[in-house]
Amino acid sequence: MIDAEDYLRRPPPARPYEPAAQQLSVPAAAIGATLRLLQGAQNRECGLFWYGVRDHAGNGTVCHVAAPRQHMTWGNFHVAPEALAEIVHRLPDGWKPLAQVHSHPGTRVEHSNYDDRMMSSRRSLSVVFPSYGRLNTAFPLGVGVHEWQVDYWHLLDDEQARRRVRVVNGSVTIEDRR
Ligand SMILES: [Zn+2]
Repeated sequence: MIDAEDYLRRPPPARPYEPAAQQLSVPAAAIGATLRLLQGAQNRECGLFWYGVRDHAGNGTVCHVAAPRQHMTWGNFHVAPEALAEIVHRLPDGWKPLAQVHSHPGTRVEHSNYDDRMMSSRRSLSVVFPSYGRLNTAFPLGVGVHEWQVDYWHLLDDEQARRRVRVVNGSVTIEDRR
């Protein structure tokens, strides 16, 4: 079910993005697992979730990369609420959804209207990888990092994205239910 409207550009934001003070720390191992899982869907879009801990200031650290059961097509993916619940119900206490991740077919990594509608949490970031996960730049360059602010999913520019998400050392767990 692909609505032609989804390929039109979204309206621009009513007000500019205000850079957030918080950072999301993403272990390099989480990036590696994400690329492998996205590429594993071959030429289909795929959705993943990054879970982890958030401190009192709102800074998150990714601990877990999960691929829920889902329906994947060349230009779309869909995760049923029950499929997401299978993952969420087994997470350790205190782990939060930190980012919703998905792939796009080409290099355009801005949200579609469909993406705006599909976000399950406005406290999470939304991270869109190009080329079905075949990223050939250093994360987050080339990746669409989006943050909800006031009433809009803002696409951060390169500088904003580099401040908002940073690659760190550390280990992650990986779950693939597809
Ligand atoms: Zn999308």
